[in-house]
Amino acid sequence: MAVVEHTQNQNHPFLQGGGETGEALRSFDWSASKLGEPHTWQQSLKTTVGIVLNAKFPMLLIWGEDLICFHNDAFLLIANDWATSSLNAVPTGGSVWQESWAKIEPGVMKVMNGGDAAWKEDELLSAYRKGKLEDIYVTLSYNPVHDERGQIAGVLIIFNETTKKVLQQKKIKENERNLRLIILQAPVAIAIFRGPDHIVEIVNSRALELWGRKSADVFNKPILKAIPELKAQGFINLLDLIYLSGDPFVATELPMNIQRKDTIETVYFNFVYEPLFDLEGNINGLISIGTEVSEQVRTRHQIEETAEELQAINEEMRFSNQELALSNERLERAEEMLRLSIEAAEAATWHMELGTKQFLASNRLKELFGLSSQVEFTYEEIVDRIPEDHRELVKMALEEALHAGKAYHMEHPILGFDGKKRWIRALGKIYPSKGVQQGHFSGLVIDITEEKENELRKNDFIGMVSHELKTPLTSVMGYTQLLMTKAETSNDSFAQGVLKKTNLQVKKMSSMINGFLNLSRLESGKILIEKQYFDIDELVKEIIEELRLSVSTHNIDLAHCGCIPVFADREKIGSVVSNLIGNAIKYSPGGGCIEVHCAVKQDFLEVSISDEGIGINSTDLGKLFDRFYRVENQNTKHISGFGIGLYLSAEIIQRHDGRIWATSEPGKGSVFYFSLPLLSPCL
Ligand code: ADP
Repeated sequence: MAVVEHTQNQNHPFLQGGGETGEALRSFDWSASKLGEPHTWQQSLKTTVGIVLNAKFPMLLIWGEDLICFHNDAFLLIANDWATSSLNAVPTGGSVWQESWAKIEPGVMKVMNGGDAAWKEDELLSAYRKGKLEDIYVTLSYNPVHDERGQIAGVLIIFNETTKKVLQQKKIKENERNLRLIILQAPVAIAIFRGPDHIVEIVNSRALELWGRKSADVFNKPILKAIPELKAQGFINLLDLIYLSGDPFVATELPMNIQRKDTIETVYFNFVYEPLFDLEGNINGLISIGTEVSEQVRTRHQIEETAEELQAINEEMRFSNQELALSNERLERAEEMLRLSIEAAEAATWHMELGTKQFLASNRLKELFGLSSQVEFTYEEIVDRIPEDHRELVKMALEEALHAGKAYHMEHPILGFDGKKRWIRALGKIYPSKGVQQGHFSGLVIDITEEKENELRKNDFIGMVSHELKTPLTSVMGYTQLLMTKAETSNDSFAQGVLKKTNLQVKKMSSMINGFLNLSRLESGKILIEKQYFDIDELVKEIIEELRLSVSTHNIDLAHCGCIPVFADREKIGSVVSNLIGNAIKYSPGGGCIEVHCAVKQDFLEVSISDEGIGINSTDLGKLFDRFYRVENQNTKHISGFGIGLYLSAEIIQRHDGRIWATSEPGKGSVFYFSLPLLSPCL
């Protein structure tokens, strides 16, 4: 029976072909099955089975309530490539693809229960391939198959394996993710711009740093919006060009102005722009890879500048060396000259270290102090050799030099260890040192004993002569007074006139002799300052009134300045005022006004005497108070004098701790000032 049926099965047109599976269906004894003999099958089943068997696409027909399965050879290649098509029983449900049935069944049942055709894309299923269970991807199409009555009697599943495509897509996605990761973690700045607007698709932190932006400022934005300052610098044109041409662009040390925080910074960077292509080979983006090299560029610029500066310095050094060689020769010559000068002037030299106070004296200095060259002596021992009446003054000058750094210049006697008195002129200066040592104090000493003795002799002589002249002059003054009285009694106007003039000349002579006497007294230290309180206003008034008696050529005015009591030597200050007003008259041959002012300026009384006379030029102004100094020019040629009045005045004022000075405009007049310290304020 089975054989007959088998033969009959061979004749059904819908069971023809279909390879191994077709053969298995035809050989199977269907009589015992629920479906019955194939010739009894519904037409729609026959037709569909025919399609399935002969299709090259993998197909599976699920039929009836029992879910009887019909598949083809192609299906076996998908589900289990080692499976045979031979049938022992009617396959049902998932028996043909057990490993994946759980995933296939819901779709089958949905369609079977009246649903529309359905579609599942890239479903992950399991299949035996060469004996091993593998994951595969399959796109399934579930199609209803109707019976004669129009009811859904089965579901035809058409399979399309998409494993290769899905794996490829996965690979691409993975590659993309890896690329993104590589970009984000790259130690160089990388950005990807997409599309013709160059929208920032990927940007790593290095690139953000370089642009001075945060991710939110640039991400998914056209580059022009993200970094607007690039537009004016031609970068967008460059990106457009690469986008259109497809040619990469490489730049080294390209400057770019970028807004970083609040300032526009010029940064330098090396970068490459490469076009990106889609699968069809069209450009769809650009990748930019770069590194900032600002630091290197700036350092190189600095090195270049430094190298130039170094070269210039080298040049200068070369010249300086030449000059140094020359000046070395000059310094040496100067030293030689100095040595010769010191020798010629028989000058002694000394040197004292400020830190240790170690004192070094030349042999000549030792000689001046009456010592042999082997003996050493100290600074203190030297000070002790100054006679007491000069010692304090010298000590003060030395202190000033040591502490205030003032130049030291003194003339004073010394008492040598050999008992001899000598006069010396000593000069010294502090030479500070920048090193550890505190510098030194050194200078010269010249023996001026002979000079001083001559001067003293001369002073003595002047003193003696002045003194001797004073006695006959006093007699002449007395006799003149007698004659004057007689002439007045006898009303002899001629004699009166002559005697008045004689008296004036005698007074002049007397004041000159007094001047010399004072000078000799001053030089021999015999001038004594005897201070007392007196009113300066009163003193000046007295002097002016006395002068007015004999002077009719000038107006002498005193600006009344109220009571100003000073503590000073009244007679000597009086002689200063007389001398200054006398000079104002003497050096204003054309007459004019002489004004005397006294004023209080802080703690000082200031007296000024102004005239409208010949004036003094600036070079002479500084020397007026020197002994015997006289201005010599056409204007002074016929004015007599010895140049001692101002010298004596200056000495007197200095001994009162005051100051004397003058201002002048040649041809217009002069103003002489002196100031005296005030002990108590004006009451
Ligand atoms: P003498 O008047 O005896 O020459 P002084 O010591 O009084 O000596 O004055 C020194 C010099 O200063 C004078 O020779 C004179 O050239 C100048 N001098 C002084 N007072 C005046 C003055 N008021 N105007 C112009 N020159 C003056």
